[in-house]
Amino acid sequence: MLESIPGKVFVVGVVLLIAMIAYSSQLMVFGPALGGLTLKAFWFLAPLNVLVAMVFYNYYLAVTTDPGKVPSDWVPAVVIKENKQLGITGPRVCKACNIYKPPRSHHCRYCKRCVLKMDHHCPWIDNCVGHGNYPHFMRFVIYVDFACSYVVGLLIWRVRTILDSMRHFQFDADPNTSEIVFMVLNFVLAFVVLFCVGILSVYHLYCIAKNQSTIEGWERGKVEKLVRRSKIPPVVYPFDISIYKNICSVFGNNPFLWLWPQTPKSNGIDFALCNDADPAVVFYWPPRDPDDLRPSIFSIQYKRQQEKKYRQSTNQEVEDSVSDDYYDSGSFASDSDYPSDDEYRGSRHSQQLEESLYGLSGISPHENAYQRRGWESEPEDDDSVPLANLMPRKSPKESKDD
Ligand SMILES: [Zn+2]
Ligand SMILES: [Zn+2]
Repeated sequence: MLESIPGKVFVVGVVLLIAMIAYSSQLMVFGPALGGLTLKAFWFLAPLNVLVAMVFYNYYLAVTTDPGKVPSDWVPAVVIKENKQLGITGPRVCKACNIYKPPRSHHCRYCKRCVLKMDHHCPWIDNCVGHGNYPHFMRFVIYVDFACSYVVGLLIWRVRTILDSMRHFQFDADPNTSEIVFMVLNFVLAFVVLFCVGILSVYHLYCIAKNQSTIEGWERGKVEKLVRRSKIPPVVYPFDISIYKNICSVFGNNPFLWLWPQTPKSNGIDFALCNDADPAVVFYWPPRDPDDLRPSIFSIQYKRQQEKKYRQSTNQEVEDSVSDDYYDSGSFASDSDYPSDDEYRGSRHSQQLEESLYGLSGISPHENAYQRRGWESEPEDDDSVPLANLMPRKSPKESKDD
C-alpha cells in the first residue's frame, strides 16, 4: 500500500515533521520560557537552530544528489572464469539495464536502473541511497539524532523549571494550556524520531565500520553460512580495509570535516581492497551457493524441455529459442517472474539472450520473497550468470549487435 503513495508526499511529510518539532517547540515552549528575545534565549536556542539548518541542508542533499549512475561502457577489468564448485559464476551483469554491473552496484526496481554502491531505496528521501548520496544521508540522520536529543534535553530542562517553581509556590510561572500541549506533543514526536532514527544510525555506523552496505551485510551473512556449511571455501570480504579507513571512505579523509557536507571523492566503481583479498573477487562478489547452479526439476528450462518433449510426441510444431545449456537454481521461478516490459531494452535478439540469461540467474524462493517485500531493493542474482561462456570480455550492448 505504501508503494502507491507518491515519493514526494514522504518528502513533504519529513520536511513538515522536522519543521514542526524544530519551530513549534521554540515558539510555543522554549521561547516564552526563556523570556522572548533575550541573550539567554539566544545561547539556548542558537545551537538548536544550527543543528536544524544542518538537518535541512543534508536532507536536501540526500534527496537531490544522484546516488550514482553506472557508465554504460563499463566492463570488468579481469576475465572471470566460472567455477560452479566454488560458486563463481562469471562477471555480474544487469539484464534489465543490459550492462555489466561494477563492484557493489545493484539494480533498483523503483529507480529502474543500476545504482553505484547501492545501499537501499529510501522512501523517506524518495531516492536511492548509493555511492553519491550515502554520506549526505548519513549526516542527515546523525544531525537528526543531535537535534532531537537537544529538543528532548530542553524539554526536560523546561519540566524541571516548572517543577521547581511549583515547589517554591511560584504559581505565576505555571505553564498555560497551549504550552503543556506543545510540550507533550514535541516530547512524543522528538522521542519517537530519536528512537527510530537512532536505531537506523547505529546500524549504519556499524555498516560503515565494516565497509558494507545494507545489501552487502545481507550478502556477507549468506556467504558466511555457505562457508560454515563447507559449500564453498573461505572467501575474504574484500572491502573491509580497517575501521578508520572504512569511515574515511564514506566521510572523507579529514576527521574534522566528517560532519561537514561534502561530496565523495571516489568514483563509486574502484574501491580499495584489504591486503588478503583476491582482486578478482570484487567482479563476481558474492559467491553463489553451488547447489543453486545445478539443474533442477523446478527450473523453467526443465519445464520447457518437458513441454518440448510433449509437443514432439503429439507432432506439434516446436519452437524453442532458448539454449539447452543452462542451469537453474531449483527455484520456483515461473514466467511471471520475468522482468516487466519496461525493464526490457534492445532488440529481439537481446531479449532472447536476456530470457536465456534469466533462466540462469537462479533465484531461490527466499530471494523471491525478499524481492517482493517492501522498500529495499534486493540485489538481482544476475551475478550468477555464466556470461563468460556467452560473451567473454564484451559488454552486453556489443553482443546484441552480433
Ligand atoms: Zn540495472
Ligand atoms: Zn532506487
